[in-house]
Amino acid sequence: MTETLAVSDLWVDYRTKSAWASAVRGVNLSVGAGEVIGVVGESGSGKSSLALAIIKLLPANARARGKVDVLGKDIVGLPSKDAHLYRGAGMTMIFQEPMTSLNPVMRVSDQLSEAVVSRREHHKLEMFRSDSVSVPRGPDPRFSMGPERRAPPSKEAVEALRQVRISDPERTAAKYPHELSGGERQRVMIAMSFLLRPRLLVADEPTTALDVTTQAQVLSLLLKLSRDEGTSIIFVSHDILVVGQVAQRVAVMYAGEVVELGPTEAVLHNPLHPYTRGLIGSIPGGFKGEKRIEQIPGSPPDIMKLPSGCKFNPRCKFAMDRCRVEETALKEMEKDHFVACHLY
Ligand code: SF4
Repeated sequence: MTETLAVSDLWVDYRTKSAWASAVRGVNLSVGAGEVIGVVGESGSGKSSLALAIIKLLPANARARGKVDVLGKDIVGLPSKDAHLYRGAGMTMIFQEPMTSLNPVMRVSDQLSEAVVSRREHHKLEMFRSDSVSVPRGPDPRFSMGPERRAPPSKEAVEALRQVRISDPERTAAKYPHELSGGERQRVMIAMSFLLRPRLLVADEPTTALDVTTQAQVLSLLLKLSRDEGTSIIFVSHDILVVGQVAQRVAVMYAGEVVELGPTEAVLHNPLHPYTRGLIGSIPGGFKGEKRIEQIPGSPPDIMKLPSGCKFNPRCKFAMDRCRVEETALKEMEKDHFVACHLY
C-alpha cells in the first residue's frame, strides 16, 4: 500500500512557565492510501496534539520535533506561512465542533464553492509534485467581510450536499452555519471534503457531539469518502467502539505514546496492553455482549509529572518492579499487532 502519511519519532512539546512538557512522545505511525486508521485514548493521551501536528495547526505555544511526511514531504520544518499549501485539497481536518472551521458570515454555498476553487488551485499548483512552495497567497476567504455574494449555489456544491444526504440541498446551501443543526454542520464539513478530495483527512472527535443516529450516518459518509476518493483518514476518538466501526487499524495512545497498534479486529478482540483492555472493559454493557473485562482505576498522568518507566504503571494491576524503571517500546506480537508492555 502506498503511504500517504509517515510519522517518525514525533514529539509535541508545550511551553510552560518553567520548561517544555511533551504531550506526544516519540510516535511512529504510517497511513496507507485510502486507509482509515483510528487513534484512541482518554482525554490527555496526546491524540489531539498528534492530530494538530499532522495537520500543522499546533498553537503558538507548542512545537513539533521529528518527521511528518505527507506524500513524501516532511512538513515539520515547513514555515507556517506555507502550511496552507498542504491543507485544503492536500489534507484537511474535521473537528468536533464544525463552527471552528466554518465561516459564520458566509453562506454554506459560498463556503462549498471556495472548496471547489481551492481544489482547482491545488491541482494547478501540483504542490505535491513540485518543490516550489513560494506561491503568493490571497486573503483567507474564511475571514473575508466583503460584499455578500448572492450567486446561486453551484451544481457541484448542491451535489456535494446531496452526497452527504442533506434532504433539501438547495435550501441548505443558501443558509448560514448558525441556521443548521450540529449534525448538518458536520455533514457540510464532510461535503466540503468530498469537494476538496484531500489525500489525507484528520477527523478529531467528529461524532462526539452527535446523537447515535447522526453519528452512524456521519461515520458511513467518512467511509464513503475514503472508498470513493481514496482519501486516507486519521480518525481520533476517546471511544474505542466508534473507532472500531470505521478504522482498519487502531493505535491506542497513553501519556503521549502509542502503546498498542494493530488491525482493528485484533486490537478489539485480543487486546494485549492492560490499558487497551481497560478501555474495552469500560464500555457500558460490555463489548459485543461479552462480559466486562476490567475497568481502569485512577486518571491519566499530568504531562509535567510523568512517572518513570512505563507511564501506565501507577494504574496497572500487573505492574512489576521493572515497569517502574524501564521504558517500554513497541514489539510485534503477531502479524502487524504491536504492544509496548513488559508483560510480553
Ligand atoms: Fe502494566 Fe508493566 Fe505492562 Fe506497563 S509495562 S502496562 S505497568 S505490565
